[in-house]
Amino acid sequence: MISVEKLYKSYGTVEAVRDLSFEVRKGEVVGFLGPNGAGKSTTLRIVAGFLGANRGRVLINGHDIVAEPFEARSCIGYMPENVPLYPELRVSEYLRFRAELKRVRRADRAEAVRRVMRNVRVEDHADVVIAKLSKGYRQRVGLADALIASPPVLVLDEPTAGLDPNQIREVRELIRGLAAEHTVLLSTHILTEVEATCDRALVIHKGRLVAQGALEELSKLRETSTTHFVVRGDAQKALDVLEAQQGASKVRKRKDSAEEVSVLDVTWKGAPEATPDKVEHAVAALVGAGIAVREASPRKASLEEVFSLLTEEDAHSDHGSDRDGEAK
Ligand code: ATP
Repeated sequence: MISVEKLYKSYGTVEAVRDLSFEVRKGEVVGFLGPNGAGKSTTLRIVAGFLGANRGRVLINGHDIVAEPFEARSCIGYMPENVPLYPELRVSEYLRFRAELKRVRRADRAEAVRRVMRNVRVEDHADVVIAKLSKGYRQRVGLADALIASPPVLVLDEPTAGLDPNQIREVRELIRGLAAEHTVLLSTHILTEVEATCDRALVIHKGRLVAQGALEELSKLRETSTTHFVVRGDAQKALDVLEAQQGASKVRKRKDSAEEVSVLDVTWKGAPEATPDKVEHAVAALVGAGIAVREASPRKASLEEVFSLLTEEDAHSDHGSDRDGEAK
């Protein structure tokens, strides 16, 4: 459905997208996840045909977005981060106008407007002037606009940005509802958004893909990437020993540690299946340094920790694109 191959895009000296390749298959809802400035909007604009890449290729339903722009773009409904609505038009007027622009047949336009207003639940606001809509309703109108020409693929840039918690829940439900009939690629910098809405995530950082996988696969990283150590003895020494371990990315001492006994968490980088070996070495090193180890157990890292681990590693190694986060 969406195929992105070795995409590059620079703005002057800023390399916004670097060697980015991924696929979104039919019927999937894929979250494009990354911190601010990661290159999400740039990529989505290229995918939707609104921005040219420096290098690389985008195929939508087999149509090259550059060589066959009409065919490719007619398969996509794109919702930009800031939906450019016409404030003086009523909701139904605006959608009718958009239907015309997107070449929906004249005879089908009225029904198309009714259908999308029903889909995104704005029927009761059909005659309201856009300037008077709340942010949440504007987002819905943006979504209706993306849907008006019945495209099989939806590309949504931060669809819940700036909404309150109730509106976020509603828009997420709408997107999940659309998933039955559409392939969806949506960007977000919020992990819980991906958990709530998507089947699979692509994690992007500094323009590169640093991980991808089904959410269960990313969740496996949560379970295996952090070890909880309870040690007795010189806490500073224990910290030093753990920090010196190969693959230790982050070592933290819990604030609630008692005076004699310290609780330390180590987050490991690298393949999850190598974690037990690293733990074994760490225990031996601690004991060798005269520190008693009372406990060494896996701790379920938060998705935020996994996210920060993935993006940090990329910052250190600068080779993010040759790794992916799938627990193989
Ligand atoms: P956010 O979540 O903040 O919207 P993003 O992941 O969507 O971020 P992009 O907007 O794609 O990221 O930006 C990627 C990089 O490209 C950033 O360093 C940004 O400053 C830069 N950039 C984006 N648009 C332009 C532009 N028109 N001119 C110059 N630099 C740009």
